[in-house]
Amino acid sequence: MHYADIKKADIANGLGVRVSVFVSGCTHHCKNCFNSEAWDFNYGKEFTR
Ligand code: SF4
Repeated sequence: MHYADIKKADIANGLGVRVSVFVSGCTHHCKNCFNSEAWDFNYGKEFTR
């Protein structure tokens, strides 16, 4: 699995403070997607333990 980004203290994607993981890969290809560079499942960094 690859990921585009990890926000360790995110206040923009829900209530309170949280960790957000933005996993790479999407097959929907929506017309106005603001994150099309991450459609590729190999985009970003490899997730390792
Ligand atoms: S907006 Fe972008 S990332 Fe979200 S489902 Fe559509 S194509 Fe995928």
